[in-house]
Amino acid sequence: MKLEVDRVTKRYGATRALDGLSLHLASARVLVLIGPSGGGKSTLLRLLGGLETADEGSVQVNSHQLVASATALQSYRRKNGFLFQQFNLFPHLSAKRNITLPLEKVHGHTPEKARELAEQALRRFGLLEHADKLPSQLSGGQQQRVGIARAVAFSPEVLFLDEPTSALDPEMTAEVLELIQELAEAGQDIILSTHEMGFARAVADQVAFVAAGKIEECRPPSELFDAPESAICRRFLSKVMRY
Ligand code: ADP
Repeated sequence: MKLEVDRVTKRYGATRALDGLSLHLASARVLVLIGPSGGGKSTLLRLLGGLETADEGSVQVNSHQLVASATALQSYRRKNGFLFQQFNLFPHLSAKRNITLPLEKVHGHTPEKARELAEQALRRFGLLEHADKLPSQLSGGQQQRVGIARAVAFSPEVLFLDEPTSALDPEMTAEVLELIQELAEAGQDIILSTHEMGFARAVADQVAFVAAGKIEECRPPSELFDAPESAICRRFLSKVMRY
């Protein structure tokens, strides 16, 4: 994917969640956003996915210039897949129905085609045996995997994952991270935010360090983790890598 983000500002009341942020990537398969809480990762991710609009600046993802038109943004959003930290699934619907419903209602597939795509996605991730269970009958890790199956069932242009493992215990985290790695290896373009530094290093081809609404540096993981350039990134990494 190609990203052209130019001097973007996003305010919530008096808070500048993004503060003149720029990012230029000619080609990336997996972009991972890291940085301190409240630094702006989630806001940037939502902006790139078309879930938020910038107050100032310009954003282009691949060939899409994101403009603040509700209809243009809606059609852009539909090309993308999303997964957030938690509360992704409709609690009263089975795993399979959670996948077929948006395929029918958002993407306009027939019920038969939706069923076929849902079964394909569930099979791909080893979840077919859980197809008829409600989210409450699944572990947190299984729920997130169903959420990812739903997000990729229609072959999204870009998959956006906002801290997909932060509500999970270590074993479930591993299950979800393995699945994301598989998707990346299969060629899926992904933008994700995470606190899992080991995973960021393994899966990313570019890592952006986001703090105080800006990108301090964006480089391949081996460079950023081994020799961070900015003092604030160095401080952050030395703190989170200590334990
Ligand atoms: P991160 O994902 O790095 O933790 P966020 O993008 O969630 O950072 O937040 C950046 C800043 O914007 C924080 O100060 C946060 O409190 C604020 N913020 C984010 N979303 C909202 C919102 N919907 N309303 C008000 N403030 C928000």
